[in-house]
Amino acid sequence: MSGKFDVAIVGGGVVGCAIARELSRYQLRVAVLERAADVARGTSGKNSGVVHTGINVPTGSVKAQYNVDGARMFEQYCSDLDVPFVRCGKVIVALGEAEIPDLESLMARGVANGVRDLEIIDSAILKRMEPNIEGAAALNAPTAAITCPYTLNIALAESAAGVEFMLSTPVLDISGEQGAFELETPSGTVSAALIINSAGLSSDKVARMAGVNRWRIWPCRGEYLILDKSKGGLINSMVYPVPPKGGAGLGIHITPTTDGNILLGPSADYTDDGDDVRTTAKIRRQLLQEASEFLPGLSPRDVITAYSGMRPKLVSSRVGGFGDFVIEEVPEAPGVMHLVGIESPGLTAAPAIAEKVSGWVRERIPARKNPDFKPKWATVRRTREESLEVINGLVGDDPAYGEIVCRCEMITRREIVDAINNKLNADSLNAIKYRSRATMGRCQGGFCGPRIVDLLLEHGKDPESLTLNGGGSWLFSGTTEDLRAERKARRTEVKS
Ligand SMILES: Cc1cc2nc3c(=O)[nH]c(=O)nc-3n(C[C@H](O)[C@H](O)[C@H](O)COP(=O)(O)OP(=O)(O)OC[C@H]3O[C@@H](n4cnc5c(N)ncnc54)[C@H](O)[C@@H]3O)c2cc1C
Repeated sequence: MSGKFDVAIVGGGVVGCAIARELSRYQLRVAVLERAADVARGTSGKNSGVVHTGINVPTGSVKAQYNVDGARMFEQYCSDLDVPFVRCGKVIVALGEAEIPDLESLMARGVANGVRDLEIIDSAILKRMEPNIEGAAALNAPTAAITCPYTLNIALAESAAGVEFMLSTPVLDISGEQGAFELETPSGTVSAALIINSAGLSSDKVARMAGVNRWRIWPCRGEYLILDKSKGGLINSMVYPVPPKGGAGLGIHITPTTDGNILLGPSADYTDDGDDVRTTAKIRRQLLQEASEFLPGLSPRDVITAYSGMRPKLVSSRVGGFGDFVIEEVPEAPGVMHLVGIESPGLTAAPAIAEKVSGWVRERIPARKNPDFKPKWATVRRTREESLEVINGLVGDDPAYGEIVCRCEMITRREIVDAINNKLNADSLNAIKYRSRATMGRCQGGFCGPRIVDLLLEHGKDPESLTLNGGGSWLFSGTTEDLRAERKARRTEVKS
């Protein structure tokens, strides 16, 4: 693999892909180099999916600016990309009278940051809004919203007309200079005039490859539990605690998802290894116990699965405090835009960051509009959101719309086939999961997993090439015939 590009974007998270989509408006040669087997496999696919209003970020910070601007753009952004967006609002709940002054400080900061329609509500109003939630008072933020973070990330990538996506392509080193950079990868060298470092947890390492030794990322894991959809009606809006003082996150919150589940989390634990996205029994107990303080009666049986996301923090647990977003080109490496420490609210801020970085590129490489850019984009058709009448029409055109493969989430064969034929040629089981939603229900793929494998084989995939998540995560390591022959050989060996 090799190629010459105007811009090389390192990292296919929501920030890198938002920039790719923004640059695809122009006639520029753009490549996204992504270490994983698909986009959205890093932090961008594993967060709360909240479009934050800007209450929680210090006034005057870079975070506040991009948070508020991004939040303002988000609804139109999701509408253009056919991505779920629900303005469900958020309440930050004071458990006792002692926490009410904290709500007042948060409100003052929100107002200073330009957040609209904030109000402090008493326990009676809170009870009317959220009958299942216990609290003495709350800060009501009705403009807060939720989205589906991985659907957004994938839509940004797939709609980026003409951008070349190089998956399973880690950048190992960078040489050269502005106008003629060389990015070394295991499959060859990629040349680019400009580089955008949007490598999330590895953005400090990519900066060092480009000769910039200013930043260090401290990974901080956040674990979540996902509750069964039968519990989806327990809350109407997002329910947050008063943020813990000096804590690494916003505290354990209860967040509805755009698909009708509820998330509990995230925890906040610093770790040395940014890839260590394990989930643990200890945190599972902690999340259930802390969430039960607001929402009594939760049971471990309500949990269908767990996941964790990693915060790319610029402050260590020892130092603590606030770390701002870095969105900078620095004198040591002209021609490289660094996006470092893009932790929460990075999802919310992504549209605004992309606009800024696109302007930076076009100041250096003026470009005409791309006639192939499509302002409106449609993702895989979601049959479950259609009326029976529409589905009947679809089935008339293609009977695969009438065959349910994932029973928990009601995903049809046609949706899975569309996901298999995705624009990026991502072919892991997770690539299909995150595009179609199959395997995300109560049974977690117990029923539909083997059926999806059958569909992949029908589409010409070799069973031994199938992976869960790319790399060495093989689904099959041989045939049962091989296994039988191996066992027989072992028995013969033992006898002799
Ligand atoms: C627990 C948690 C909850 C959050 N909740 C919210 C929320 O509700 N709302 C919100 O606005 N924000 C939230 N965030 C923050 C948000 O998820 C991030 O700010 C955002 O996803 C960052 O996107 P990114 O593209 O910068 O990074 P990433 O998604 O991490 O993408 C970086 C990509 O770079 C790739 N990469 C790394 N090194 C290399 C290399 N050498 N070569 C090639 N590719 C490489 C990685 O594989 C990865 O795919 C949350 C974060 C966490 C951890």
